[in-house]
Amino acid sequence: MLSLALLPLLQTGTARAEWMERVEDGIMGTRIVVELWATDRAQGSAAIEAVLAEMRRVDQAMSTYKPTSELSIVNARAAQEPIKISQELFDLLSTSLEYSRITDGAFDVTYASVGYMYDFRKHVRPDEKQIAAALPGINYRHVELDRKNGTVHFARPGVRIDLGGIGKGHAVDRGIAVLQARGIDHALVTAGGDSRIIGDRFGKPWVVGIRHPDRKDEVIARIPLEDAALSTSGDYERYFDENGVRYHHIINPKTGHSASKVRSATIIGPTATRTDGLSKTAFVLGPEKAIEIYNRLEDVDAVLVTPEGKVLYTEGLAPPE
Ligand code: ADP
Ligand code: MG
Repeated sequence: MLSLALLPLLQTGTARAEWMERVEDGIMGTRIVVELWATDRAQGSAAIEAVLAEMRRVDQAMSTYKPTSELSIVNARAAQEPIKISQELFDLLSTSLEYSRITDGAFDVTYASVGYMYDFRKHVRPDEKQIAAALPGINYRHVELDRKNGTVHFARPGVRIDLGGIGKGHAVDRGIAVLQARGIDHALVTAGGDSRIIGDRFGKPWVVGIRHPDRKDEVIARIPLEDAALSTSGDYERYFDENGVRYHHIINPKTGHSASKVRSATIIGPTATRTDGLSKTAFVLGPEKAIEIYNRLEDVDAVLVTPEGKVLYTEGLAPPE
């Protein structure tokens, strides 16, 4: 989770324009924050409501917790036959497969073929036998998209998909699109660990802090941002510890176990869909390989915290003094 460092408020002198903020818990199982600069209060309130409504809509379609969601219907039926899906879900799945290819399969929405057996709140995890039996279901290549017909089909039984690793980023981008359509050009939208910013904040960049993996209130790096997205994944978000092992919500698609090669990964890039989709990679591939991949992508940068507490940066970020 990121924390925003507060900047001093400057008076702009505009009569009724104001800075507005709303914090809402519950949508997509996380905390939503919307901040924006509105020329008047009514316009600002309506814009915030519209963002929240859009996020609820995305949640309804893409949650695996709701048996009636479009995604749940796909999981129930796509191994039997191609299922016609919305353009939005089709595009997000196709983006997901692209990230699987970019990350050498570290990002893989079929992680859920094993992942569904974990319940981190209840300290439930699959045993080795259950993992071995379900593991063949994990492989992004099992997800067959047919653009002409607008369908998705799973190549074998036992495949499940979950968009928990990209859905919040997508929802944030949708929220920003809603604001832009209303003419708002200074705003922040956050869903859990995924944020996107348009414009600046009173003439200065936004400053986003990256927290220490173990000490919630300690900031290990501050990053100034304008017109950018940022996602942080951490092994401290959803987890339980058992006999000295941390079981947490980022799964290595090759093994079905929690991926622990870094403690946290923060990605900065143009859209929250992209930064969300790429923030799981370092957990699975390890810092060296992940930095190599991030450096190859022109439009992203990353800050990683290793298990030893070392902070690593991609080439585009000069280490802070
Ligand atoms: P948040 O849910 O707070 O946005 P992350 O962005 O770190 O947290 O995403 C973690 C989620 O990603 C997990 O809860 C799970 O739904 C999903 N996930 C876990 N492992 C993978 C993986 N290897 N590839 C794609 N998605 C994954
Ligand atoms: Mg995320």
